[in-house]
Amino acid sequence: MKSLVYYGPQDLRLEERPIPTPKKGEVLVKVHAVSVCGSDLGAYRLPEVSDRWAPPLVLGHEFSGEIAALGEGVENFKLGQAVTANPILYCGECFYCKRGLINLCTNRQSLGTTIGGAGQDGAMQEYMTIRASALIPLMKGVSYIQGALLEPLAVSLVAARNGDFGDGERVAIIGAGPIGLMILSFLKAAGNKEVYISDLLPSRLQKAIQLGADEAISGHDDVVKAVKELTDGIGVDRVIIAAGAPGVMEDAIKMVRSGGRIVLVALIHHKAEMELLPIVTRQISILGSYMFTTEMQDVMQMIADKNLNVDGLVSSTYPLENGKEIFDLLCGPTCDKVKIILTND
Ligand SMILES: [Zn+2]
Ligand SMILES: [Zn+2]
Repeated sequence: MKSLVYYGPQDLRLEERPIPTPKKGEVLVKVHAVSVCGSDLGAYRLPEVSDRWAPPLVLGHEFSGEIAALGEGVENFKLGQAVTANPILYCGECFYCKRGLINLCTNRQSLGTTIGGAGQDGAMQEYMTIRASALIPLMKGVSYIQGALLEPLAVSLVAARNGDFGDGERVAIIGAGPIGLMILSFLKAAGNKEVYISDLLPSRLQKAIQLGADEAISGHDDVVKAVKELTDGIGVDRVIIAAGAPGVMEDAIKMVRSGGRIVLVALIHHKAEMELLPIVTRQISILGSYMFTTEMQDVMQMIADKNLNVDGLVSSTYPLENGKEIFDLLCGPTCDKVKIILTND
């Protein structure tokens, strides 16, 4: 089978590997679709190898496929069944898991990463093995392409719900990449909200308008000033940071109203220097939003019920063989693609 193997920043190689055999409690999945995540691109763009993605490693955790073999002791699943999986491989026994907070599991490993020490090869290959307990069957009417979007959609749904002030709130999203645009879609689907979004790329701003943004602000302009003007100088109720550019935190503090909330969902690797006094005197709350627990199912239900249209989010699909080119394309400074899905057919 073909595997796209990560050997470090800017180094992805297509290799022939033997099809793995599922161990006890695992299944073999024939991958049909795997979406390229911003975190996969993050690994590819790193200045040096990180222990989050220690090579050699197969990336890819946003995927769907069909069950091709069952390991010993696996029940409740059948050959040919369409599935995706929760990439958070939690322990089920720690303080957090016992409280249902599997995203915070102390012992978690994660598909397509070496988080937690052990490498878990991901879905950028023709076949992969995964523990059956992580599988999520695709509902009727949910395609493989849609299945490969459930994970980032779940991340976005949680971020959209975190810190929500309810109907009538005004929200600014920093960053109109896949996660920013998905958050926008959920906010607009959730009712009466005014949503402003900023990004450096005109194509993304255009996409944001198509998806219902009330205002799309170029990141080349003074975003803080624009948001202030749109809110009569008050600032927005909530800022959601979905991009990791330097200075975003400082900007967010300036554009949120007093008593407002800042939600951080982008994985920002750099440090920020900011004034702490306004956080107290203007009573600002800062919330982190990491992954999800059961929201992949919620999102899938919305798609199956036709309450969420995600088709506009996928820019194109390409065969897995083109993986390296696609990473180079997506890391380009003017890339106008939103989400690219690699397929295996
Ligand atoms: Zn992802
Ligand atoms: Zn745990």
